[in-house]
Amino acid sequence: METPTKLPELFGSMVFNEQTMKDRLSKASYEAWEKSVTDGTPLELATANEIAEAMKRWAVEKGATHYTHWFQPMTGVTAEKHDSFIEPAEGGRIIMDFSGKELVKGEPDASSFPNGGIRSTFEARGYTAWDPTSFAFVKDNSLYIPTVFLSYGGQALDKKTPLLRSIEKLNQQAIRILRLFGDNDTKRVVPQVGAEQEYFLIDKDLYDQREDLRLTGRTLFGNMPPRGQELSDHYFGQLKPRVSEYMKDLDNELWKVGILSKTKHNEVAPSQHEMAPIYTECNAACDQNQLTMELMKKVALRHNLVCLIHEKPFLGVNGSGKHNNWSLGTDTGKNLFKPGSTPRQNAQFLLFLAAFIKGIDEYQGTLRCTVASAGNDHRLGAQEAPPAVLSIFLGDELERVVRSIIDDTPYENSGKKKLKIGVDSLPQIRQDTTDRNRTSPMAFTGNKFEFRMLGSAQSVSGPNIALNTIMAEELREMADKLEDSKNFNSDLQKLIKKTLTEHQRIIFDGDGYDDAWLEEAKRRGLANYPSTADAIPHYDDKENVELYVKNEIYTEEEMHARRAIHEEIYNAQIQIEARTMSDMIRRQILPAVSEYAAVMGERVMTKKNVGFSSAYEEKIGSKISVLSDKLMLSCEKIDNDLKKVPSDSVKAVQYNRNTVYKEMVKAREIADELENLTDRDYWPFPVYADLLFSE
Ligand code: ADP
Ligand code: MG
Repeated sequence: METPTKLPELFGSMVFNEQTMKDRLSKASYEAWEKSVTDGTPLELATANEIAEAMKRWAVEKGATHYTHWFQPMTGVTAEKHDSFIEPAEGGRIIMDFSGKELVKGEPDASSFPNGGIRSTFEARGYTAWDPTSFAFVKDNSLYIPTVFLSYGGQALDKKTPLLRSIEKLNQQAIRILRLFGDNDTKRVVPQVGAEQEYFLIDKDLYDQREDLRLTGRTLFGNMPPRGQELSDHYFGQLKPRVSEYMKDLDNELWKVGILSKTKHNEVAPSQHEMAPIYTECNAACDQNQLTMELMKKVALRHNLVCLIHEKPFLGVNGSGKHNNWSLGTDTGKNLFKPGSTPRQNAQFLLFLAAFIKGIDEYQGTLRCTVASAGNDHRLGAQEAPPAVLSIFLGDELERVVRSIIDDTPYENSGKKKLKIGVDSLPQIRQDTTDRNRTSPMAFTGNKFEFRMLGSAQSVSGPNIALNTIMAEELREMADKLEDSKNFNSDLQKLIKKTLTEHQRIIFDGDGYDDAWLEEAKRRGLANYPSTADAIPHYDDKENVELYVKNEIYTEEEMHARRAIHEEIYNAQIQIEARTMSDMIRRQILPAVSEYAAVMGERVMTKKNVGFSSAYEEKIGSKISVLSDKLMLSCEKIDNDLKKVPSDSVKAVQYNRNTVYKEMVKAREIADELENLTDRDYWPFPVYADLLFSE
């Protein structure tokens, strides 16, 4: 099959999308698919068969020989199991077969995926089911069918099932609100997401020489080179042509699977880059971000590069995050977070805004948990990413509007006494004035909220499940109140005012990097969970369990299971890092520095023999020896600590953070000091200057 070279033909060429379905399905089947997307009507087997047949034909034309149910287990990465289309036929021939049943349902051996204890109490198998709201695509000669992953008891074992549930709940509640404002046209409200992805690119030959990068995705040792981030515009050097080749290649691959990316050079840190896709429906955006991360890594290898998606590959260099841009769109093309031009639209906007503000304030804990990971612990609150405390930045104009509502005061330039919601228009809110505060964890940027606490390596499903569910909950509460109202406008005004007044503590427009903010946040009673170990205990706090259970996103059991998996992943990551560190110290660093110290010792003797001064050699040799002993002890402590990790995962999280990780920090300090003293030729692996600047 020829790969198209022009973007219009290339874009989505490997996606079984709406247009392809329209072209290749009977009208009845196309409409049945459409209906299953808009109101969840299950597909009849005959329809599924027809779709499967069309999908298979199309996929085979695109070079596919296999198909896979592609799903998102709770590990945060994606999983796939490939089956061949090939069925033996008479006369030793083969036919390419794929039925509706195979499209709609698969039964992967689920035992290797984490379940947080769910499946041990139920059936040991799981099944996957096609999610007709996200498009199938062809990649690496396989037809990828996006699916949900469930236990036989119906419990969600993945991230897509709760995401779809949350999208549906949010839709239901948002529609109730729109009806109150006389909107009878909108049939669906859908969260829309644009996930900006940061990453590093480094040379593969150098990467291969670093065990820490290979096993943990980040460097466990290393000093900043003499040149840091300060002259970032010169950093690409030799890497540049390779990087731009890479980006071209990546864009092509992303476009083929229907991801409209705009890759950009990001000049914050050397070797760091960013990709921003055009936003799309939340469900597709989550699939696409998973696919993006996968393709970023895969395409890099073709250029002898390695793509690091870890949150903190290099100490002392800005790490990577993900900005989750989130808004609410309607099937009629409106954005519900866009301040309107009429008083009625303004009133509706303010209601959605108030609901959002209330929700973020009430559910800070769960939002914080959705971005908690060992990798992200290096960034949040470290002056390079938002603090670990949730707050909302509204921008000057909108904040003034909110203040005038809360204080009942006239707002500037209005010429009116005070803002009457539903009667007055809002001032124009210009987009360029809303985006100035880069330190805010949750910034209003004109017509969307940008959630900036996410780690670069994580799935964006968790944070979006939280945002959707929180919004659904708040809108439900408001709809319950307003649907009974006898005087809508005045009750609306009261409700908005009350809500904003009660939750104004979450609004903050100052410098989130300033320590003074943490003090202030404490006085305001905002939650501050600096690390994963501090956050996870709040995972299933009462209000969070109530939120998800009431909205039928998770059962209580599913929540506990998810917390357990979150803990398991955290524990595994810290322990792998600790073991890798110990291995590198014992088998690479200590032997190397010992050799170099011995060389220094010999030089001292040689020089002394001829009467030369040898203060330098003595000093270095002795310093290295003292530090080596310290490093050995620290490494022994890590090894011993690792033997005593509690088997209970709740306790293990605290232990790993407060004992194992703490010692790792100490060991690293000693090792980095040794790196500074040791002849480059003796140091056993490439250093930061090599990794970050390959020119
Ligand atoms: P920046 O100036 O940071 O590049 P942009 O406005 O260009 O900001 O968009 C950043 C990201 O937000 C992009 O992925 C973009 O597609 C996405 N985005 C833009 N508008 C919306 C929206 N209404 N809802 C969700 N995401 C959006
Ligand atoms: Mg951004």
